[in-house]
Amino acid sequence: MINVRWGRGQCPCVPDVVTAMQMMYDVNRVRKDFPILARQVYGKPLVYLDNGATTQKPRCVVEAMVDEYYNVNANVHRGVHFLSQQATDLHEASRESVRKFINARSVNEIIFTRGTTESINLLAFSFGESMVKEGDEIVVSAMEHHSNIVPWQMMCARKGAVLKVIPMTDDGELQIDEYVKLLNEKTRLVCCTHVSNVLGTVNPVKEVVRIAHEQGVPVLVDGAQSTPHFAVDMQDLDCDFFAFSGHKMYGPTGIGVLYGKEEWLDKLPPYQGGGEMIKNVSFEQTTYNELPYKFEAGTPDYIASHALATAIDYVTALGMDNIFRHEQELTRYAMDCMKEIEGMRIFGPVEGHDAVISFQVGDIHHLDMGTLLDRLGIAVRTGHHCAEPLMRRLGIEGTVRASFGLYNTREEVDVLVEGIKRVAQMF
Ligand code: PLP
Repeated sequence: MINVRWGRGQCPCVPDVVTAMQMMYDVNRVRKDFPILARQVYGKPLVYLDNGATTQKPRCVVEAMVDEYYNVNANVHRGVHFLSQQATDLHEASRESVRKFINARSVNEIIFTRGTTESINLLAFSFGESMVKEGDEIVVSAMEHHSNIVPWQMMCARKGAVLKVIPMTDDGELQIDEYVKLLNEKTRLVCCTHVSNVLGTVNPVKEVVRIAHEQGVPVLVDGAQSTPHFAVDMQDLDCDFFAFSGHKMYGPTGIGVLYGKEEWLDKLPPYQGGGEMIKNVSFEQTTYNELPYKFEAGTPDYIASHALATAIDYVTALGMDNIFRHEQELTRYAMDCMKEIEGMRIFGPVEGHDAVISFQVGDIHHLDMGTLLDRLGIAVRTGHHCAEPLMRRLGIEGTVRASFGLYNTREEVDVLVEGIKRVAQMF
């Protein structure tokens, strides 16, 4: 018998956490699942507040990868032998875990990619090739990450289409009345982020979808910054496409998902050729595989898919609602403390902020602030956060961004606030 230590739903570090969760969200206990949080930088305890860029990994996710490499590793789908079948079973069980996690109707709607960026590029190519012609319009919002702008610009350049932008208010909220006016018979697709990686704005994507659907226009939601923080439901949102990354939700790097409604994915042509996306090949003609394989060329990262499913088991056992409550409470606490700092400017909406706080203090350059906070052991992100058009809209070059995860604590917020004050005093 091959020694696979756990299958789906049997993540080893989960049972302890579940017991704790039944009582309350015990963040100190949760932190023990993340070995990296115990380390020091520059002789100071690490305060990791760069979760919007990538999250740390619980032990069970790393162990799932090691375990599969040591005990199961074989290429998936193609082998008749035992290991290949076992690796295939794990990979396909992971697809089912993702389906359940986002409440998609079918596993045929779950395409494994390398991450949000690749998911959007896949769609921009396939959708662009088959659905967009000269003069057509693609709508994006003013607060998109470059990954949800550039693939559409590239596609527009190829097809002679035009990019339109939903404007936002100074507080970082989408102007829905202006959005309605943008839609017309030339609109082919609306692309909107669920949560802004800079402002923390939680966009009303359900409304965005409903309005677009009234005009017969499909919608892509960029879920890179929502899936780590609260439960998402494809059938409830009713979006046509949804993209997210494993590494931002406690899973490994190099794996992500493109969700698409089956009726759309059926219509779209493949993105890349080779491997599992093929049914039959001759020099005269090639026929393509069924969904979801039609969009998965080459050997998939079956180790990462299994580890992503382990991360899903992990956050599910903690409870997405518990994670949301914990992070909301922490974000509110941080906002309240930070507001008291002299010269503090916090970007984004006052209410309904997700676990991301972008700020500037007086005229201290964001890079100086970030570098000096780093020396205190505090990891934050600085710069334009891959959202240069948004920076231009705000009239700034960049911000400092603290982004929270399920393991951050009030004490860490206190360290951040004291750190900002110390840096401010130096200037
Ligand atoms: N979209 C948003 C909103 C993001 O925050 C990010 C990453 O920061 C991306 C897309 C790109 O994600 P990835 O680099 O995992 O492809």
